[in-house]
Amino acid sequence: MHTFCDRAPGSTCRFPHVRTDGRGRAVDPVIVVGAGPVGLALSLALAGQGVPSVVLDEGAGKDEPRTARTAVLRPDTAELLERLGCATVRDDGARWAGWRSLRRHQEVRRIVFGDDGGPPSPVHLPQHDLTRGLRDAVTAHELVRTVPHGRLDTIEQDDGGVTAHTREPGATSWRGSFLVGCDGARSTVRKLLDIRFPGRTSVERHAVAALRTELPWPDEALLHRMPPWRTGGQEVTARPLPGGVWRLDWLLPSRGELVTPEALLARIRDTLGGWCGETPPYELIDTGVYTVHHRLARRWRVGRAFLAGDSAHLLGALGTQGLDEGLRDIDNLAWKLAQAWHLGASETLLDSYQAERRTAVAARLRAADQALPVLRGSGLRTYLSGTARGHDTLLTGGHLGRGALGAPPEYTHSPLTPLHTEAQTLVGTPLGGPVADVRATAPDGTTVRLRDRLGRGRQLVVLVAPGTGVWDRRHWMTAGLMPRLAAAVTALPVRAELLVAESYPGATAHTVLLVRPDGHLVAAFHGVRPAELYAAADAARGGAPAGAQAGPGPQRSGEAEGPGEPGRSGSEKTTHAGRTADIN
Ligand SMILES: Cc1cc2nc3c(=O)[nH]c(=O)nc-3n(C[C@H](O)[C@H](O)[C@H](O)COP(=O)(O)OP(=O)(O)OC[C@H]3O[C@@H](n4cnc5c(N)ncnc54)[C@H](O)[C@@H]3O)c2cc1C
Repeated sequence: MHTFCDRAPGSTCRFPHVRTDGRGRAVDPVIVVGAGPVGLALSLALAGQGVPSVVLDEGAGKDEPRTARTAVLRPDTAELLERLGCATVRDDGARWAGWRSLRRHQEVRRIVFGDDGGPPSPVHLPQHDLTRGLRDAVTAHELVRTVPHGRLDTIEQDDGGVTAHTREPGATSWRGSFLVGCDGARSTVRKLLDIRFPGRTSVERHAVAALRTELPWPDEALLHRMPPWRTGGQEVTARPLPGGVWRLDWLLPSRGELVTPEALLARIRDTLGGWCGETPPYELIDTGVYTVHHRLARRWRVGRAFLAGDSAHLLGALGTQGLDEGLRDIDNLAWKLAQAWHLGASETLLDSYQAERRTAVAARLRAADQALPVLRGSGLRTYLSGTARGHDTLLTGGHLGRGALGAPPEYTHSPLTPLHTEAQTLVGTPLGGPVADVRATAPDGTTVRLRDRLGRGRQLVVLVAPGTGVWDRRHWMTAGLMPRLAAAVTALPVRAELLVAESYPGATAHTVLLVRPDGHLVAAFHGVRPAELYAAADAARGGAPAGAQAGPGPQRSGEAEGPGEPGRSGSEKTTHAGRTADIN
């Protein structure tokens, strides 16, 4: 049996930051089944929060280059991967200059991306480059161990953990604290847990080609509906990849049509000719057919085992991105497992993964299913002018990560949402929504981006205090509201970090925001409210861990403390100077 350290008795443990039990024994890692992009990203997210993992994969540990299999990462998932240390997203991903929608001969919409006020572009790269970047990051991390040729075939659970068995060659048992099935659409974990995977087969099919050429819209992605040439079909997209390469997708009838190499070449020639006047020179790099299924696993958690990524859901019609949702899964799950691994977790916290993520993906699938007959129908409705723009808005949303088909999730009706109290106030981010990436000051006086502080297993407490930019950094922890807020943060039942922001969208001065480790807003209060802050942080961790005594919590605070002058607070007499609140 391989345990956490995979070591012989008495030998040195490979992982230095091992949690040990009362007798100094290592406690087991999280077993991640599947070294696809979702499994690798999960192992990095866990490592970032001090949790070791073993990644079992049946493959040999490297991917065949398949340029036609790409990832379109929306800003939130691109940011997540960069934070996890995946350098290829930054170095090898194409950022689009714009987005163009055409219908027949007419331009319906043009969006310019970029720093000059335009929205951020998605990042587009071949999936094998993404996986390579994740593998490199994993290799550099001592808390992650990858096991190639490790095909899982059985799982057993007991009160203390999970035992997973990998089959020959090198049949082995692995002991873990939790297990996450990131083993793709045909998930063995899902089957072993006897979880049903209902849904629809072949909702959409696309013929896909990756080719190097020059198109009239350098670096801009294009959605062309009803292209006016014979082989154009109903819809074709062209999305730039790095190095002058494009991924072209032609929507095919969902069943039936066989895509012969000759038929695909005819499509390529007609499409390039349709856009450029005559077919320009091109180098064909890769082709494939991408069949989209819509399925959703009935359960995402059974005891200590979870599902994430394609093993939990399949989607992809109308521009929706299955991989993006898989990355959002692991962002949601990693901090909960980290909490469980370090401090223990309540059933509420562990169940909240399914409650939040399955609900979000189900809503996305519902939105796609409702839009499909409207957008893909061949009847009169698709020809009616006036609806064309509405249809385009929906499709563009799916492709760019907006609206019902693409926007990052808001966990509004989560079991982790605290009870609403009068102390709460509204800000520009809805409760449960992802927080804005404002600049903030960290306890050591450095200036940071708020979202750079995510994924460290800590809740963030952010005081909005206009004018703090001019505070003397040596004294700022003793200024104004800070001492009282720092004390409140120290008393929280979770690990938390205190930050100060000059401003936050929709927030008035002295608003205090409580943010989950994955960047979703828990609550916003006007002023320092220790009791309410404590209750909200407790709700966001799902209450006290199973078997733990609930802490006493702070004394009720009564009225919130009002603003004070920097450097003149009576609390200067206290001993807060130089201390960070990031201590529990
Ligand atoms: C041509 C093509 C184009 C695509 N385009 C897009 C796109 O534009 N956007 C998008 O979002 N998605 C796209 N996809 C789908 C995308 O590739 C998947 O959504 C993504 O790979 C899912 O990642 P994952 O990590 O969940 O699973 P996978 O990538 O399937 O990884 C699963 C891993 O589990 C391992 N495994 C399986 N069973 C076992 C076992 N029993 N024991 C141990 N290991 C096991 C496998 O070896 C594999 O490494 C495309 C797919 C294709 C084929």
